[in-house]
Amino acid sequence: MLDQSFLSSVPHAPGVYLMLDRSSTVLYVGKAKDLFKRLSSYIRFKGSAHNKTAVMLSKVHKVDLVLTNTEKEALILEASLIKRHRPRYNVILRDDKSYPLIKVTVQEEWPRVFMTRRKKNDKARYFGPYASSSSMWTTLNLLQTLFPLRRCKGTKLKPRKRPCLNFQMNRCLAPCCGKIDNEPYRAMVDKAILFLEGRNRHLLQGLEKDMKQASAKLDFEKAATLRDQIGGLKRTLEKQVVVTQSKEDRDVYGFARSDASVSVILLYVREGVVRGTRMFFMEDTYGDDQAIMSQIVKQVYDERSLPPQLVLLPFEIEDQLLLGERLSELTGRKTALSVPSRGDRKDLIAMANANARQRFDEIDKKRASWEALGMDLQKRLNLTRLPHHIECVDISNISGTNAVGSLVRYEHGNPQKNGYRRYKIKQVQGPDDYAMMREVLIRRFSDSNPQSAFPEMLLVDGGKGQLSVAESILKEKDLLADIDLIGIAKERQDEGEKLYKLGRKNPIILPPHNPVLLYLMRIRDESHRFGVSFHRSLRNKQTLASILDTIPGVGPARKKQLLKQIGSLKNISQAPVTDLMAVDGIGPELAQQIHNHFHDEPTPR
Ligand code: SF4
Repeated sequence: MLDQSFLSSVPHAPGVYLMLDRSSTVLYVGKAKDLFKRLSSYIRFKGSAHNKTAVMLSKVHKVDLVLTNTEKEALILEASLIKRHRPRYNVILRDDKSYPLIKVTVQEEWPRVFMTRRKKNDKARYFGPYASSSSMWTTLNLLQTLFPLRRCKGTKLKPRKRPCLNFQMNRCLAPCCGKIDNEPYRAMVDKAILFLEGRNRHLLQGLEKDMKQASAKLDFEKAATLRDQIGGLKRTLEKQVVVTQSKEDRDVYGFARSDASVSVILLYVREGVVRGTRMFFMEDTYGDDQAIMSQIVKQVYDERSLPPQLVLLPFEIEDQLLLGERLSELTGRKTALSVPSRGDRKDLIAMANANARQRFDEIDKKRASWEALGMDLQKRLNLTRLPHHIECVDISNISGTNAVGSLVRYEHGNPQKNGYRRYKIKQVQGPDDYAMMREVLIRRFSDSNPQSAFPEMLLVDGGKGQLSVAESILKEKDLLADIDLIGIAKERQDEGEKLYKLGRKNPIILPPHNPVLLYLMRIRDESHRFGVSFHRSLRNKQTLASILDTIPGVGPARKKQLLKQIGSLKNISQAPVTDLMAVDGIGPELAQQIHNHFHDEPTPR
């Protein structure tokens, strides 16, 4: 408990403090140069009823201290404890979106380059985050054309008799068949990294030098490859938007606040071009701007995510000097955190701030349009509450086979993918839609996971029959008073959609272009799409298994190899005999047999 008697035992020393509630959940982690002074400063907040600090302190049951030798040690420990405990009152770095990254497995003997969304502690190099999937794919495609590194999975390169299709498509130099040695392969990996780091001019100079050398040695094949790489790179450079003439690399932070919500953007500026962005949005934040920015910068960088030599900040932040020292230690060279006061650096901050502010404008616009739509929805369907959260259930099956249930969730007018659920129907045999819906709803409303908070409105794909199934489940679960229930269906193909509500004899019919109807149709269609994709993937798995199983001589081990090395049933069905023969365990005779099998029968799609 944080009171005078506890304070009398706190030393004047650097360290970290953890505030815990009654159930020993960590509420807040902080660091201090002088623990006594820092903790004493909390005492004055304790009386104030409306202050956020006072609200947090009212929940604190215990304070744990960890003493450190220096303030810098406390800073490092604080960052790691925040990552471990993710305390409710600290700023927790959560990207506004899940950004794609490009991973280069430099730790492997024959590195690969591919897309990922998760950074692992595995010594690989990660690039990005990219502002969108499309910008990441554009970069990755270009990279794979310019630098054809291997595309096959697996940390170890498996020797093969013949290369796969990637070689024929000039997308891989086939180290698997010894067509390139490790040294030139690694040199190509280095060039790919220069490209991903945005050091294109540097890379261009190197390629031009290599091309001249290759020509001088009359190695025209190599010179032609280099010429193509140079051409591709130049075309990319022409498309880039230069935001500053300076070629120094910088990370630039922008900041915007609206009441307790904070928006922060990080621009990765490399060679004068914005190479990537990261956006953080936090509602209901605790602490002042200086403390919040400090917590963000502390969490952005670590051993796997190093800063450039210059980090530009919109204002002075808490622990700035100490953080600069820590980042210099991490990078092994001087790394400065600076607040620019003039010139192009200040212009970059202004640009970043404008981008951070833009996020609020987007949110405000979305909120305003959702509020209007939500109120209209409530009024037209006479709902008991504003349906901020809507879930919709759909069943997909063909004559009862591979039946699945899908559930999508919309919050404030937008799909919330982490609330989507898929259910494989387990207890119903044959085509009985009502029983399947019953099974799905029982499983959904038995979910006690707090992440799956129940919606204010449940939309079912169907009319009175489905509605009465849903009603009986909500009644069983004692949720009928908490959730509005609506059905959406067409009675006949030539008619429009009708909305069904409990206790109403006739359906509600809205004009075809009414925004409320269009919104509900969008939710229903999304639920249908989600269910069909699951149903299709189950069916494909089954079809795939059964088609390959019918080929004599293809057992489980060979089936696995075929899929692993050729990729998909479609690829297998279209592969020439030579490619099939290159698969481990498949001889010429069997390869011919597989080929015949697919060419005597229709090719699967
Ligand atoms: S298997 Fe294909 S992708 Fe892998 S190294 Fe060989 S040719 Fe390249």
